[in-house]
Amino acid sequence: MIPVTKPFLPPVEEFKKYIDGIWQRQWLTNMGPLASDLEMKLKQHLKLKHLLFVTNGTVALQMAIKALDLKGEIITTPFSFVATTSSIVWEGCTPVFVDIDEYSLNINPSKIEAAITENTSAILATHVYGNPCDVVAIEKIAKKHKLKVIYDAAHAFGVEINGKSVFEYGDISICSLHATKLYHSTEGGLVISQDAALLKKMAYIRNFGISGFDSFAELGLNGKNSEFHAAMGLVNLKYIKRIHQKRKELTWGYDEKLKYLKAVKPIWHKDATINYAYYPIVLESEELLLEIKTKLDGNEIFTRRYFYPSLASSLPYLESQSLAVTDDISQRVLCLPLYYDLTLEEVDLICRLMLRVQNN
Ligand SMILES: *Cc1c(COP(=O)(O)O)cnc(C)c1O
Repeated sequence: MIPVTKPFLPPVEEFKKYIDGIWQRQWLTNMGPLASDLEMKLKQHLKLKHLLFVTNGTVALQMAIKALDLKGEIITTPFSFVATTSSIVWEGCTPVFVDIDEYSLNINPSKIEAAITENTSAILATHVYGNPCDVVAIEKIAKKHKLKVIYDAAHAFGVEINGKSVFEYGDISICSLHATKLYHSTEGGLVISQDAALLKKMAYIRNFGISGFDSFAELGLNGKNSEFHAAMGLVNLKYIKRIHQKRKELTWGYDEKLKYLKAVKPIWHKDATINYAYYPIVLESEELLLEIKTKLDGNEIFTRRYFYPSLASSLPYLESQSLAVTDDISQRVLCLPLYYDLTLEEVDLICRLMLRVQNN
């Protein structure tokens, strides 16, 4: 069986060493020493001034929306994981969907302005598959209309644009450190901001809004993460180079063997590095996609229609809406297996099966 993804697990002895330390200190959660150490090491690794380690990527999104005091409408992408949209609704705001660019699969900046109304407070865009949005165009629109920008960078761990972390863009960026992500702490998330005051506000929010023994500074929630999760994050960080290298080799393996498949890959941001978080392809037709998926399923090889269906047309709490490019792409996009333990032989098998379907 080949799953679409599989969490990276470090040698258990290395994790156990951290667990022994937790037993000695008897400090399990509430910004413990491992959580602080993880924040420090991630800042070094990502060359960032400020970040916070939080419960998960979804809570990170909610904290970002709350910290920026967003109200009314938030312009967002329909081509993302459901948490991008549900967080907006959960925070009492209204998502306004703007169609994606057919090449990058990110929100199309040239369509944003038409969606801005007097109730618009922000743009929440996803760097889909880790491929950065047109951050320059989005920033220009945001400045002109006095809008805040949040990036859902859940897929974009380690990506840089012109040598600068993708997390530096926007008023706030968030990342997910969920087990299925490229780099993980079992469950976990990050909020990142260049603005120290905003980060301080989010630090209060993360801890129920508490600012002192008997005082509260903000409306908070519980966004803390535990020492156990921090331990996983710390051990995995040591393997990040190896993880990156392995995924790169697998990606090149797919690229080489799928040259003649009737499919295209998203066009990557020209100034950005690639983190090999996913292997998405957009097939020529949904029919071909379904044939390939069925064939692979039959061989116990599992792919995922990520992201299908469009968020604009599938959520029971929102009125359904069609968006031409998103509807088209989401019907034809498929993510192939990609994870650290996958082998080039398995990639070869997957590709051969796929090409056999197409050439039949
Ligand atoms: C995974 C993911 C999230 C949610 O992160 P969790 O850590 O699972 O809460 C949000 N947005 C996108 C695009 C994601 O892929």
